[in-house]
Amino acid sequence: MTNAKPEYVLEAVWRQGVPDEAAVARLAARFAEAVQPPLVLYLRGDLGAGKTTFARAYIHALGYQGYVKSPSYGLLETYEAGGFNILHLDLYRIEDPEELEYLALRDLFDARTVLLIEWPERGAGHLPDADLTLEFGENESGRYIACRGTSDHGLAVARSVYSKT
Ligand code: ADP
Ligand code: MG
Repeated sequence: MTNAKPEYVLEAVWRQGVPDEAAVARLAARFAEAVQPPLVLYLRGDLGAGKTTFARAYIHALGYQGYVKSPSYGLLETYEAGGFNILHLDLYRIEDPEELEYLALRDLFDARTVLLIEWPERGAGHLPDADLTLEFGENESGRYIACRGTSDHGLAVARSVYSKT
């Protein structure tokens, strides 16, 4: 089964309707095919917008078999899958971005790491720049995921995912 074509393309920017979790899983599988580490992916959107659902589907699409929990309490969850190291951060509950210094992300992030960050705005100034930003939202047509490439690598991934839809 394939998703409908995204609604528009402008440079490497697109938006895709995701009416149900199966649509999220199909999109996440395309990212899993396209992404080569190192890559930093920001996941933006309100509570309940679908950020963790996407991260979970992406990590499973890379071949991880176990349960992918929301890192909103633990702050960081790590996985090994597809030969990658996946770091999944959720900054919703941090009170001060300085707390991120204790995680020593710089030491954890290496050439084989994909870093997924929910609520990146709460870690401003203490995070690596995004290669890709996904925006999770809802409009009159339902839920959507918007994708923006913000580095050469991120642009290439955004284009590659788009071309497979
Ligand atoms: P967030 O991490 O952004 O707070 P979640 O990924 O935890 O949000 O999703 C919140 C709820 O919405 C979950 O119950 C999830 O199953 C549901 N959900 C997420 N994405 C979709 C979608 N595209 N269609 C329908 N339900 C979804
Ligand atoms: Mg979440």
